[in-house]
Amino acid sequence: MARYTDSVCKLCRRERQKLFLKGQKCFTEKCPIESRNYPPGQHGLNRRTKISEYGVQLREKQKIKRMYGLLETQFKNYFEKANRQKGRTGENLIKLLESRLDNVVYRLGFAASRRQARQLIRHRHFMVNDRLVDIPSYILTPGDIVKVREKSKKLDAIHNSLKRVKDSMYSWLTVDKANLAGTFVQVPERADVPLNANEQLVVELYSK
Ligand code: SF4
Repeated sequence: MARYTDSVCKLCRRERQKLFLKGQKCFTEKCPIESRNYPPGQHGLNRRTKISEYGVQLREKQKIKRMYGLLETQFKNYFEKANRQKGRTGENLIKLLESRLDNVVYRLGFAASRRQARQLIRHRHFMVNDRLVDIPSYILTPGDIVKVREKSKKLDAIHNSLKRVKDSMYSWLTVDKANLAGTFVQVPERADVPLNANEQLVVELYSK
């Protein structure tokens, strides 16, 4: 499967904001956004600052896509699925993205970033409702229980990541740190999702 292999920090610099793609480094002074908050490349510093309406919509789409670690086709597929559902397309899109297993593993605190969550899932460290699931894009439904596999419970990556998590960081998730398990209680409302992005701009972009 195709995947992005260049430096992920360049993606944050391109969007001129932290997308939190690197885990712990994102919270330290080593984060390049702290010292070089301008687009990467030779002309990054001198790039034209005025951007068109289309440009604004495109950047917002790129930002959300990159935050969730998706490629263009995957993201477009989510948008089309959201568009077919009842309700507001933008909100449906965020709800779908938030229901992905890799996102939930990250939000539960079992991984320092969505990228790391994907890797841990592919390496078969997680179960959903007592069944092994190694597909990061697996969509959870309310009531699903995500657990670290018995043989993976000593993984440093998981324990180091859990240190940053308080007991109930998100209203739609519950986490049981002692047993390395969590429940996807419900699909979150858009207002509850801490996401610094305007998904309506994505709807406008794809509606052109
Ligand atoms: Fe983005 Fe994190 Fe890299 Fe900072 S350290 S630029 S927030 S990925």
